[in-house]
Amino acid sequence: MNVFCGPMKSGKTTMLVAMAQQLLLDGPVAILSPAIDTRTPLARHGGAAPPDPVRDAVSKIADASQYDAATAGARAVLVDEAQFLPREFIDVFDAEERRLFVFGLDTDYTGRPFGIMPDLAALAEHITKLSGVCGRQGCTAPSTRSRRLSGGDALVVVGAANYSPRCQRCFRAGI
Ligand SMILES: [Zn+2]
Repeated sequence: MNVFCGPMKSGKTTMLVAMAQQLLLDGPVAILSPAIDTRTPLARHGGAAPPDPVRDAVSKIADASQYDAATAGARAVLVDEAQFLPREFIDVFDAEERRLFVFGLDTDYTGRPFGIMPDLAALAEHITKLSGVCGRQGCTAPSTRSRRLSGGDALVVVGAANYSPRCQRCFRAGI
């Protein structure tokens, strides 16, 4: 298992799409997207829509009982927004023998490890921490956290419009 994690707008989805395109040259690919995330899968923030072969490989998935059907015939599996998946997926991913690339937010808006991501990071053979640039005006430090701009106290509020990346310092300062 390969885990790619980082805050909002750190290039996770862009990397997922690029990797899926590459893997598709070798054979069928399954891309899983948590059903709780009702946005268009792989919707990129201000970028181009993913190419059709990539979009066609996406399945919405809610629980582990759907995993085998969603990945049948695939030679590689990619997972988007994995922080939203239930805990049963930890064992499913750990048992996967095909090439597996899991993407997700490593911390939630309170700055704590998000969902199953810390478990997946512990079990992964490789972890890549991605960062972008702090979203506070005038700050150019690398972003490692996601600051929520709206949405109350619910842990799961999806949509890039609700979040902005922050560097550690700005996040701690609450700005
Ligand atoms: Zn900053």
